Amino acid sequence: MAKQSLGYVELEWTCPFCNTRNPGRVKVCTNCGAPQPKDVKFHQAAEDKIVEDKEGLEMAQSGPDIYCPFCNTRNPGTAVKCSRCGGDLTGGEKRESGEVIGAQQTGRAPDITCEYCGTVNPATNTKCKNCGSPLGVTARPQPAAAAPVKMNPKFMIIGTIVLLLICGALSMFFLQGTRTESNIARVSNVNWKRSIVIMGYAPVTYSNWIDQIPQDAEVSSCSERERGRSSFPSGNSQQVCGTPYLVDQGSGFAEMVQDCEYIVYDDYCQYSVIELQPVGVINDTGTDMNPLWPETRLQQDQQLGERSETYQITFNVDGKDVVYETTNPDEYMQFTPGSSWELEINGFGSIVDIQPAP
Ligand SMILES: [Zn+2]
Ligand SMILES: [Zn+2]
Ligand SMILES: [Zn+2]
Repeated sequence: MAKQSLGYVELEWTCPFCNTRNPGRVKVCTNCGAPQPKDVKFHQAAEDKIVEDKEGLEMAQSGPDIYCPFCNTRNPGTAVKCSRCGGDLTGGEKRESGEVIGAQQTGRAPDITCEYCGTVNPATNTKCKNCGSPLGVTARPQPAAAAPVKMNPKFMIIGTIVLLLICGALSMFFLQGTRTESNIARVSNVNWKRSIVIMGYAPVTYSNWIDQIPQDAEVSSCSERERGRSSFPSGNSQQVCGTPYLVDQGSGFAEMVQDCEYIVYDDYCQYSVIELQPVGVINDTGTDMNPLWPETRLQQDQQLGERSETYQITFNVDGKDVVYETTNPDEYMQFTPGSSWELEINGFGSIVDIQPAP
């Protein structure tokens, strides 16, 4: 984020003795003549007007005011001697600065109602147009604090019941799985399936930033997208700025600044490259005890990929079929059709253990 200055605006201070609002540059109250005390802060004026007069700009940029260590008079930051008593300002206290006073107000502050006669005055007035009473600062509306979220007890009870039901269902499920039954069964039929993946060269589509694309790729289409944010402008970037805000300069003025950054755009493209990848699968199946790998005829540039095998054995348990599946060919070879086995079957009807029949 880069800070951008939009210029200076004059602040105001309110006299603690007569409640009159005074322009930031004025050192003694325009109504009662009291000097501005050190602890009376500057606040945002009724209107944020960019300072254009030479004198105002000089004051705004002269740094935080210095208070005379001898007579407490407010002096500009560039002064070396007190304007009132001539005392040396070297040991004087500087006014605090750098605080964010508020966001830029685009319109004028709301009207002020006179406390004494009830007349409505424009916010820029410092004295009532009817009775001449000083018009202090009106409180600006503050954002309401969010109310804390409380849990509804009704929902908590329902939630607890639902949780208990889920726990119950889960434990039933596990019980079902662990309870097993022993059965004598006969192998009624068997089948096998063996597959080999064929690998070949073919185009694969990817997408990436234009400068990340491999040289041998074929680019099909590109579109402009936000690639990142930067504090500096570049070839293809667009500036975005936040709401301007006022930073107290300690001199009766505030600098209006804006935090800005650049959205950097770039081409994001779809492209394809030729890569070795699966282009097909060949299978062989059978219902005998002689599983074979399928015969392959490869074209030029093709090669064999991953092999896989699955074997299914169907047992007859009291007239019902129970299927067992394995990927181990040695295990498969034991289950010749017609042979007898002792099966452990769980509550879901799955085989969990197989032993030769006694
Ligand atoms: Zn006053
Ligand atoms: Zn002095
Ligand atoms: Zn009035």
